[in-house]
Amino acid sequence: SRARVVVVGGGYGGTTAAKYVRLLSDHKIDVVLIEPNEAFVSCPISNLVVGGSRQLGEITLPYTGLARHHGVTVVRDSARAVDTSRKTVTLAGGATIGYDKLVMSPGVDLMFDTVEGLQAAHAGGTVLHAWKAGPETVALRRQLQAMPDGGVFAITIPEAPYRCPPGPYERACQVAWYFKNAKPRSKVLVLDANADVTSKAALFRKVWAEQYKDIVEYRPQHKATAVDGRKGVVRFEVQDDEKADVLNVLPSMRAGLVAVQAGLNNQANSRWCGVDYLTFESTAAKDVHVLGDSIQIAPAMPKSGHMANSHAKVAAAALVARLSGWELNPAPMLNNTCYSFVDDRNVVHVASVHEYVAAEKTFKTVAGSGGLSTAPSELEGVYAWNWARNIWADSLA
Ligand code: FAD
Repeated sequence: SRARVVVVGGGYGGTTAAKYVRLLSDHKIDVVLIEPNEAFVSCPISNLVVGGSRQLGEITLPYTGLARHHGVTVVRDSARAVDTSRKTVTLAGGATIGYDKLVMSPGVDLMFDTVEGLQAAHAGGTVLHAWKAGPETVALRRQLQAMPDGGVFAITIPEAPYRCPPGPYERACQVAWYFKNAKPRSKVLVLDANADVTSKAALFRKVWAEQYKDIVEYRPQHKATAVDGRKGVVRFEVQDDEKADVLNVLPSMRAGLVAVQAGLNNQANSRWCGVDYLTFESTAAKDVHVLGDSIQIAPAMPKSGHMANSHAKVAAAALVARLSGWELNPAPMLNNTCYSFVDDRNVVHVASVHEYVAAEKTFKTVAGSGGLSTAPSELEGVYAWNWARNIWADSLA
């Protein structure tokens, strides 16, 4: 009988894995992709929807290409439970599906309970994260539109590692861009649990000091511990409380909940899933591969869509080889580029190359590789859009 691969999560990692298992196996392996959302909504570029220069429709893509062009069976449901000993996935709708190999790419779980009051404030719609692109991205945009000129937008950033190191700083720029054009007396407060800006620090600081002078204020070492959504107050471990009209709290993150429930989160205080970086197979369960934001990352490897897409190709090659009885001798070399929009069209990037080092069983950045913008430019804005269109096509078309 034909081998079956089940993929949990149709985001950056899962879609790529589903497509590449079909391609690499010459369509000989059946692939079932489980995803509750009707369409793919990209987190990359979603900060521009918050800033108002783009619409959600521009970052929303259908899943239909995976079925039509690659024969992936897309099941619109969520995985409720995974049994790694019986090798089954049970869906919220009740069905149970068996697998030969399982790919888990469920993204991140936001740890609401690390900030007192956040769960209730989020459920009530007063304090949003918008760290999973979709309706919440639009809701945050609406809060900014409703805010009077002279108001304060505050974003709190958790300690690294979290999804997308430069993402919060890009968002600060997008909100500042909107304020500068539409509400020039307003302020953006960046309240960071880390000791410094965790990505492209000098570039962001320069943009805030020059382009958004008197709008953006950056404060390191502000670890949020509690919020009051109705009063718009956020409390910190050490520093004084801050008040804001629009409060955007990003709590600490861990592996996607279904991966945690499956017991795959065996690293870093049970927050992330350990994998063998040669195959992305879980170190907690056999025949299960974990990709993307859910994994314990190798040194200097960001939690990014670009990386999730790369993990997926390594995992797909490894599991197709195993299921096909082919010899497996991988030496993965991955790269990453993260673009950040500092306004509606000027962009900065950081790039890196990650090589698997067999002696240490991990990825290390290649000495002398990588790069960083010298200044924001419109040309990099063109590159950023091309990056997005290419990766969407690579994973979904
Ligand atoms: P996701 O892409 O989040 O996919 C997870 C999927 O799993 C989701 O579709 C979810 O619905 C599904 N799922 C969850 N639980 C279940 C379940 N139980 N059953 C079935 N399905 C489930 N990265 C870049 O490379 N470049 C950027 O410019 C960039 N900008 C960003 C900006 C922002 C504002 C944010 C928030 C992130 C950004 N990122 C960027 C990071 C990027 O979005 C993530 O790293 C990437 O999405 C990780 O891929 P993933 O497959 O691990 O998770």
